[in-house]
Amino acid sequence: MPELPEVETIRRDLAASLVNRKIISLNVLSPKSVSPSVALFCSALVGRQIKTVARRGKLLMFKLSLVSPKLKKSGQTIYDYLLIHLKMTGQLIYLDGTKKIAGGHSLSKTDTTGFQAAVGGELPNKHTRVVFNFSGGRQLFFNDLRKFGYLKLVTEVERQGLLARNYGPEPLTSEFSVSALAQVLKNKTAKVKALLLDQKLIAGLGNIYVDESLYAAGIDPRRPGDSLKPLEIKKLYLVINKIIRQAIKRRGTTFSDYVDSRGRSGNFSRLLKVYGRDGEKCVNCGSLILKIKVAGRGTHYCQHCQK
Ligand SMILES: [Zn+2]
Repeated sequence: MPELPEVETIRRDLAASLVNRKIISLNVLSPKSVSPSVALFCSALVGRQIKTVARRGKLLMFKLSLVSPKLKKSGQTIYDYLLIHLKMTGQLIYLDGTKKIAGGHSLSKTDTTGFQAAVGGELPNKHTRVVFNFSGGRQLFFNDLRKFGYLKLVTEVERQGLLARNYGPEPLTSEFSVSALAQVLKNKTAKVKALLLDQKLIAGLGNIYVDESLYAAGIDPRRPGDSLKPLEIKKLYLVINKIIRQAIKRRGTTFSDYVDSRGRSGNFSRLLKVYGRDGEKCVNCGSLILKIKVAGRGTHYCQHCQK
């Protein structure tokens, strides 16, 4: 799943092309992928422009242009935002003449035709769930192999509620502080890895950046949250921000199921110290990097460097 740095990369690329584009028509090929309903989805979006492309954690938020005062008076729900979550296998691909912007999951592991076919081939393809048609023949495709991703229309009030309920502070913001992290871990007997993955506690981190952060902080992923000492919490806070900042700068991480919104793989991969390196030597101590299961997720760590 794309994590904060990968979604931020998609956001930046799409913002440069989508802002002020007017949606002239829509094809919803998978009703399950949109809400509240296909009919409402289409009627609310056609004729609107995308005004901003924002992000919270791993969630993309397209702000829609205002509707006519007449429609406002009609009493029907006015949706202010389109929320898009790519989840495990979602992709967004924008076509603008010869320009192509693509981000999200690569199908290389599960589909022998690979990402090139999914992104570089004909569109729509068999995984296309929604097509947005903009003026000038421009198109945005939402592809999703496993259909866990979603496109959801919400009012501003609903958006605020959803964010407040489901998204904790995120790295690189003032809300994410040493004391906020301490609060996340305080009195928690759950494993530190599980706590860091919980989007309600901290938004944006996923398996890659949690494994990398715990390695950089020298903390065993299986330790209970409440066992971390103040100095360890401070170190963890610093390395999370540092790693996320570096990863955004490098447009995310390269691995088999993620490419960025220009169809390129991110290049944080060379900086990975443990993720995907099981069986290789730890760059710090030379011990073998191990892969175990923690919080139901494949977890990479060095038993010598992480205590
Ligand atoms: Zn080591």
